[in-house]
Amino acid sequence: MTYRDRPVSCPRCALELVRVDDGDRWSCSRCKGLLYGVGELIAKLVEVAPDLVPDAGIGDITMPARRTTSPALECPTCNENMDPVFLGGVELDRCYRDNVVWLDRGELEVVLDVATEQRQGRESIRSSWLARLLGLD
Ligand SMILES: [Zn+2]
Ligand SMILES: [Zn+2]
Repeated sequence: MTYRDRPVSCPRCALELVRVDDGDRWSCSRCKGLLYGVGELIAKLVEVAPDLVPDAGIGDITMPARRTTSPALECPTCNENMDPVFLGGVELDRCYRDNVVWLDRGELEVVLDVATEQRQGRESIRSSWLARLLGLD
């Protein structure tokens, strides 16, 4: 069973998400949040920063502990709590079971900005937030 075949709802508003362009991405018409398949999000990042293409098999990334001030969001597709993943200072929520990432309104823009900036500072890329996102399975 895959999440792609059934409706998913916004973890913030519980409104049904609208699939965008038949891709691995959905948006909420109320809060403008976005649900991205991890692969789709990476493709988006690579668009703005082509040299961030990952090496295969980055592993063993330690995930930061969830901060206690914000409650975990429930995954829109499996209803388990999602885990935080930090991308350039933005905390996103990721479900490891479904390989999806939730972005609140505006967060994608921030992440893309950071990706663009990091393109200039290449030396730290592999140990960076992107590696953290990529190295998980
Ligand atoms: Zn919403
Ligand atoms: Zn899930």
